[in-house]
Amino acid sequence: MRIQMSLEKHSYDILLDHKAILQLPYEIKNIYKGQKVFIVTDENVYKFYANSLKSLLAEFIVSFVVVAPGEQAKSLAIYESVIDTLMEQDMKRSDLLIAFGGGVIGDLVGFVASTMYRGVPYIQIPTTLLAQVDSSVGGKTAINSHKGKNMIGTFYQPKLVIIDPDFLRTLPNFEYKNGMAEVIKSAYIGDVVLQEKLFKGQIKTLEMIERAILVKRNVVLKDEFDLNERMFLNFGHTFGHALEKQSNYEIAHGFAVAEGMLMAVHIGEKLGITPKHIQKDLRMILEKYDLGLLKSDPVTLIDDVFYDKKNTHGELKMIFITDIGKPVIQPVSKEALYECYHSQASK
Ligand code: ADP
Ligand code: ZN
Repeated sequence: MRIQMSLEKHSYDILLDHKAILQLPYEIKNIYKGQKVFIVTDENVYKFYANSLKSLLAEFIVSFVVVAPGEQAKSLAIYESVIDTLMEQDMKRSDLLIAFGGGVIGDLVGFVASTMYRGVPYIQIPTTLLAQVDSSVGGKTAINSHKGKNMIGTFYQPKLVIIDPDFLRTLPNFEYKNGMAEVIKSAYIGDVVLQEKLFKGQIKTLEMIERAILVKRNVVLKDEFDLNERMFLNFGHTFGHALEKQSNYEIAHGFAVAEGMLMAVHIGEKLGITPKHIQKDLRMILEKYDLGLLKSDPVTLIDDVFYDKKNTHGELKMIFITDIGKPVIQPVSKEALYECYHSQASK
């Protein structure tokens, strides 16, 4: 199936299906007249898929740039070395770049694409669940600075995204679970049917990815540059980010977001925003997918969040849900948040 990203200045398609990757040569010819294709990937993905990709693209002149796997690839040093290598490989401004890998590759290569020669055309081929349902859709690119994650980046849309769930067959279970947290988030902020199906444990991977992408797409189409509605995607992320950071990034993003969602519904409940039954169902879904239920300390997380937001004049904008599929943004004070946990302790 084709999902259209009809943005004002740059529309493109998300091609989603089992074996969608086989369409790559035709799809390239639709958007690109040249012969040379530059693929940036990481060592793991290269090991699994480089040979099949080379034969699939036999009619093109293909060059690979392969970086070490892991978050360290989202650094200024690796960014520079990728650009150096592409230049040594004689990549020109009109040549096609492909990001082939998980979210790390997608974010890094998106940033390379948006800045190299002031912008080159590129295709996203996400190979992790997290990247397929989240980071490959929406046009955010990023690398990390010493001061924090994703501190350097751009909004830059690809020419095409190809999502093939068959890539997930080789994905380690841990990485799958990491992506499931964002699927569950999408359900809670935008798709009641997805939430019901996850709850029953009755959903095929393809439909699950499609539904999660549609939630993200609808939000991005309303607010490409993250000024309003796109903030809904941060459900569970306020405390999720704090937890990741507190653990020195030993807790992976999805697991931290799972915990952050539980905190958001707990707080929402205490503040009278979120109905009571939501927390129980969310807990059950997270348990079903073996996520969450970490031993985090909410009070230190609240302190950390406010420490990071020291310029927001005492209030923090947080995403709550008033029902499944119905997110709202609401300012909360530190004192109100403390209260949500004190009252629990005194019960
Ligand atoms: P994320 O997508 O969660 O942001 P990464 O890009 O770091 O994170 O990918 C997570 C890990 O999974 C990395 O070690 C990466 O090399 C590996 N990986 C990515 N795609 C696949 C795949 N299809 N099969 C096996 N391993 C993969
Ligand atoms: Zn996230």
